[in-house]
Order: sequence, then C-alpha cells, then structure tokens
Amino acid sequence: MTDVEPIKCDLCVIGSGLAGMAAALFAANRGLSVVQMGHTGEIIFASGMLDLLGVYPVNEKRSWSEPWAALDTLMRDNPEHPYARLKEADIRAAFDEILTFLAETGITYHRNIDHNSGVLTSLGTIKTTYAVPHTMWNGVKALKEKPACLIIDIRGLKGFSARQIVAALNAGWSNLRSARISFPGMDHLNEVYTEHMANALLLPHNREKLAGVVRPLLKDSKIVGLPAILGLYRTHEVLSQLEERIGVPVFEIPTIPPSVPGLRLKEAFERGLRPQGVRYFSLTRALNVRQKVEGQFETQIGRDAVEHIVHSRGIILASGRFIGGGLQAGRKHIRETIFDLPVYQPDSRRDWHHRDFLDSRGHLINQAGLEIDDAFRPLDDTGRPAFETLFAAGSILAHNDWKRLKCGAGLAIASAFGAVKSFVD
Ligand SMILES: Cc1cc2nc3c(=O)[nH]c(=O)nc-3n(C[C@H](O)[C@H](O)[C@H](O)COP(=O)(O)OP(=O)(O)OC[C@H]3O[C@@H](n4cnc5c(N)ncnc54)[C@H](O)[C@@H]3O)c2cc1C
Repeated sequence: MTDVEPIKCDLCVIGSGLAGMAAALFAANRGLSVVQMGHTGEIIFASGMLDLLGVYPVNEKRSWSEPWAALDTLMRDNPEHPYARLKEADIRAAFDEILTFLAETGITYHRNIDHNSGVLTSLGTIKTTYAVPHTMWNGVKALKEKPACLIIDIRGLKGFSARQIVAALNAGWSNLRSARISFPGMDHLNEVYTEHMANALLLPHNREKLAGVVRPLLKDSKIVGLPAILGLYRTHEVLSQLEERIGVPVFEIPTIPPSVPGLRLKEAFERGLRPQGVRYFSLTRALNVRQKVEGQFETQIGRDAVEHIVHSRGIILASGRFIGGGLQAGRKHIRETIFDLPVYQPDSRRDWHHRDFLDSRGHLINQAGLEIDDAFRPLDDTGRPAFETLFAAGSILAHNDWKRLKCGAGLAIASAFGAVKSFVD
C-alpha cells in the first residue's frame, strides 16, 4: 500500500549500517528532519570496536599506536582516500558526537584520545583499534599489565577457544590460564549462541549462576576474560554484578560474527535516534529514486512493493558495499545499485584480486566504489557531482580499503559527518 501523502523531510538517509546511523544522528543533531531506511548491514557482524586508522601503508603493514599521526601521513600521501576530504578537527568532532550519543543510550566507550589500544581477540591475536566498548576495557589494561588472568570459554560456543588464546599469548604472559564451563541452563545443548547467552544474562539470577560457576575456577587469577556475552543491553549492570559476585574485574573478548557488541550498537542507534525524530523504516529498501526538480528527490521505499514515498531536499547514500547491497559485482563489472552511478574499479575482472589472498598490496576490488568531490558528492561520468544534493558516506566510497587499513567505523563515522556538514552548509 502506498501512503497517499508523501512524507516530506530535509534529508533521506539510504542505509542503516554504521554510516547511515551516524548520518541520521548528525543530521538530527543539526535540526534536520530525517527519514531513514535499510536492512541490518555489516554492523551486526562488526566487533563493536571503533577503528580510526590502525595500519598504513598497507603493503608495509605498519601498525600505528598514534592514529592521528597515521591519518596525517595518509592524508598527505593519498589525497584520494575519503579521509583526505576532511580536517582532523572534523574527524575528532565526529567521534566525540557519536561517543556522547552512545554513552547517553547506555553504551559507554573508552579510548586514549590520542592513541590506539590493543584488544585481545578470540584467536589470541591483538587487534589495534581506537574506541573500545567499556565491557572490553579491563582487557586492554590487562594486556599491558599482564596480571594472573583466567580466560573462560563455553562448551558449544563455536569459534572461541580459551586454550588457543592462552597458547598464543603464554610466551609473554606466563600466568594466563584457561578453563571451560557450561553456560548455566544450556549444558544440555551441543551448540550455544552468543545472542542467547547475552539475553539470558539480562536476568540477575542467571548472572548469579554464571558467577557461581566461574568463581571456584579463579584460584590466584586477578581478572577474568569471557566471550562477549555480557548482555544485549544494561551492560554496566551485568558487568558490575558479575565482578561483584566473582570478586575480580571481568572483561569481554570479541567473538566471531554475528557479534553481541555489534547487535548492541545497532539496537542503541535505533533506540536513541527515535526520540531525536528520525523516522526509520527498518527492513525496507529504496526501490526507486528520482529527482523531481533540482533539489528535491522522490524516493519510493518498501519491501517488494512501494509502501511509502519520501520527498527530501537531499539524500545521503550509505548503502555499503557488496554485503550491504550498495555495490553489486556482475560477471564483468561492479555497479552501484540505486542510482547506477559510475563505480571506480579495475578495467578487467582479472585485476579484482591478486593471485595470493594474503598479497601484501591488498586487492584492487577493495578500492572500488564511488568517486566523490570534497563535499562527499558522488561524481558522474563527466567528473562533476551527479546531483547537487546527493552525498555518499561509508564503505561505498572508493579508495578506502578499510579492512586492511583498519579504519572501518572511523571512515563510516567521519564521512557521514562530512556529508551532513556539506548538506547543512
Ligand atoms: C565481520 C566484520 C567485522 C568488522 N569489524 C570491525 C571492527 O572491528 N572495527 C571497525 O571499525 N569496523 C569493523 N567492521 C566494519 C564496519 O562494520 C563497516 O565499516 C561499516 O559497517 C560499514 O558501514 P556502512 O554503513 O558503510 O555499510 P553497511 O554496514 O554495509 O550498511 C549498508 C546499509 O545500506 C543498506 N542498503 C543497501 N541497499 C539499500 C537500498 N536499496 N535501500 C535501502 N538501504 C539499502 C543496507 O541494508 C545496510 O543497512 C567490520 C565489518 C565486518 C563485516
């Protein structure tokens, strides 16, 4: 069914991954009326950590403890990278605004403002990142101080091995131990899922039971690491109750996707943006978009058939890459799925990937995406902005290779900031 009256707004945000959510927040905070649509996107697969810039240049695999110095170098060397369209002050302001919003929704992040931090992963490797969920922060400190530490894994949980973590780190962290437990009430299951355990821990009596299983295993350990399951919401309450009952600090270790910290982010944005007036149509897509007159777009949205029509002065295209659905790889070409905008890509499919998956140069397909101007407007075939008020943000942008540079969330947040700023100006 189609609404008789089109919904009128200032800005239509296509996409509800991290870039779309950040764009909706920045726009609402600046007094714009916003309509947003999209499916889940990559956000629920993400670890919950917010990377700014961890590695540069890719072929040297140089890891940086000072992300702002890394950014400075990247911006100088690589003017095509979307970060180079922004000033450092804007990227800092974007992070401040997002982290303040998340804290208000109950998800506190910690960071060393000018430094990256190391976070222990489920493989026993150390991930360099910038902003860390508060549930993982004790782990950041433990990695530096190396106290006696117990890592717990859970029978039936795939992709998480406390023994592997300990084996990987024991050389430099001798008093690290592992133990395996059954999650209370799930010991009869062959396979257990992080979301189910996180849900169970919303109930205080399940936290009591979990603490009761962990406490006897503690021995001389001064801190305990668990898979990231400490509640889908109310993580402060879950963490502090577990710490009190177990008797030592506790931290989360990110798991393989789908990830509870990613789900928390998604839920926090949805919950927090509603009171800001953002009208979000979840599980819908932009089916068709056209420009009615200069400066006014009509976007038809729905699941399969048109359910609503949105009239907006501008659009932010945050539709992601291949997983999100913003780019589609055909047999020969990569195309942009909504406006059919030109996509920067290698001339031939043969050049999408190097032969070696781990090639230190990275793969050219990861550079594919939309070329933009300094205002984050996608360019047409002539190199001019395709539309005066169409902006793009997030992983759909060309030249970003976020996976290798370790800049996924930072790029999404900063480019959304740049796009909204350009629209407002
Ligand atoms: C496994 C994994 C782990 C990650 N870990 C980290 C990490 O540790 N740190 C970090 O910083 N980053 C991490 N990231 C990256 C981070 O999540 C991404 O950079 C970020 O999600 C990209 O966001 P995006 O909004 O640009 O795209 P996406 O998240 O892909 O979102 C695209 C959105 O566009 C929507 N869309 C597409 N087509 C349409 C349409 N026609 N109409 C309406 N909506 C549409 C989709 O439904 C979706 O909502 C990880 C990502 C993955 C996949």
